[in-house]
Amino acid sequence: MDTNTLDRPALFVDGEWTLPEHGDGLEVLEAATGTTLGWSATASETDIDAAVGSAGRALIGWRALAPARRAEHLDRFAAALHARAKQTAALTSRENGMPIRLSVGVNGYAPGLMMKYYADLIRSVDRDDVRPSALGGRTVVRREPVGVVAAITPWNYPQSIAAMKIAPALAAGCTVVLKPAPETSLDAFVFADAAVEAGLPAGVVNVVPGGREVGAHLVRHPGVDKVAFTGSTPAGRAIGEVCGRLLRPVTLELGGKSASIVTVDADLELFAAKLLEVSLVNNGQTCHAGTRILAPRALYSQVVELVTETVRGLVIGDPLDRSTQIGPLVSAAQRDRVLGYIDMGRAAGYRVTTGGGAVAQRGAGWFVEPTVFEGVDNAARIAREEIFGPVLTITEYEDEDEAVAIANDSDYGLGGTVWTSDEERGLALADRIHSGTVGVNHYALDLAAPFGGVKASGLGRELGPEGLTPYYSAKSIYFGAL
Ligand code: NAD
Repeated sequence: MDTNTLDRPALFVDGEWTLPEHGDGLEVLEAATGTTLGWSATASETDIDAAVGSAGRALIGWRALAPARRAEHLDRFAAALHARAKQTAALTSRENGMPIRLSVGVNGYAPGLMMKYYADLIRSVDRDDVRPSALGGRTVVRREPVGVVAAITPWNYPQSIAAMKIAPALAAGCTVVLKPAPETSLDAFVFADAAVEAGLPAGVVNVVPGGREVGAHLVRHPGVDKVAFTGSTPAGRAIGEVCGRLLRPVTLELGGKSASIVTVDADLELFAAKLLEVSLVNNGQTCHAGTRILAPRALYSQVVELVTETVRGLVIGDPLDRSTQIGPLVSAAQRDRVLGYIDMGRAAGYRVTTGGGAVAQRGAGWFVEPTVFEGVDNAARIAREEIFGPVLTITEYEDEDEAVAIANDSDYGLGGTVWTSDEERGLALADRIHSGTVGVNHYALDLAAPFGGVKASGLGRELGPEGLTPYYSAKSIYFGAL
């Protein structure tokens, strides 16, 4: 194992830095250069057993704390994450290629904000709800923590996606075993550093990187009470099957292929100004990105020209440079996959209006040019499958009914946007889109509102008060009439 300051040779189990069972660590590569960024400890099944055991022991004391005491811990945890925000953002951008101007918010500051949000929420949520019984007497409905949570996360927004699980889980009185994606193992240890600094009780948060085999071991572990997963739809289905057999609660945040409907009265300047953040955010490596642009016949050529010019003008570069709008993809495999889809689109006869290949002058980093296909039939594979890179398709529609039909003709249902000068019309169209979230002239997650998908985009919701509910189990305690 090389040694450099970014190396993380130990797992975080039971509040201790613990050497893994096997010494051979996991190499984390830098997306912009393809060279070694650092080495991470990687967990074996035995290490996972130890982490789950520690979370189980910690559960006894953690769940017994009054919510106000847990909230104080979360506040300190938030402060410790906040203090590290800038370094965390830079480290994550080096791992996954996310432009730093985005990473500072979503990897740097968002985790602390989530801890704070759920700390404040549990201060205002009573543990018990006392209800008069319909049959006389009364019932105490008690919110109990569901138990030990296995949090399994992907590499694209590793910090915020982990925090979307850790924050509500800890707030509800659960303890957590975090298994991050191998590509972004290094930044996951920031949660361990912050837990130590905040003085969280040992075992409340455990960090054990590893591949999908140890992830699978964690999912089926008898000491786990709930699984919170974000990742691809195939992995989500595999995890859902195991949890179904075990009757184990599971939340699944999966893939997407969202539509951006440009209506005839859209403010096209606004649409162009927001194209990067709505459709190509994080180099297109975003589950809710609006990658299928639907344009009305009357504006079709104008939309094609506008999207093409906007995408052509994006600044491709080093993710750590604040002017960069498009950075490299996370890995060589991801770059090859995205280039494969571009070839597939061309082979199917669709016209590339800009981009269409790797960025040769960027050396060994995994850069792909932001690419636009026009005239795409919604039945084409590039319009149906999640590419997870900077590739957009433009499809023409006749009227709004057809736009809605195309938007909904997808296996997925995670995001979507409507572009219109009339908010009422936007709301009416949003209502017809079969999806967990929709934006009108805008798309951004809201910490206080539920996020999640329908159909192949998953099960359950994270964020907002709805994001706390899956970490509780409701117990009814009946009292008869006196
Ligand atoms: P992935 O599914 O390959 O891996 C995600 C995580 O699950 C990793 O930690 C991986 O090691 C683990 N894993 C994989 N198979 C497993 C199994 N059978 N059992 C247990 N653990 C397993 O996904 P990825 O390539 O890391 O991330 C990209 C995918 O994530 C995209 O499809 C994207 O749309 C999706 N995603 C969804 C959301 C959302 O909120 N809906 C957010 C971000 C990413």
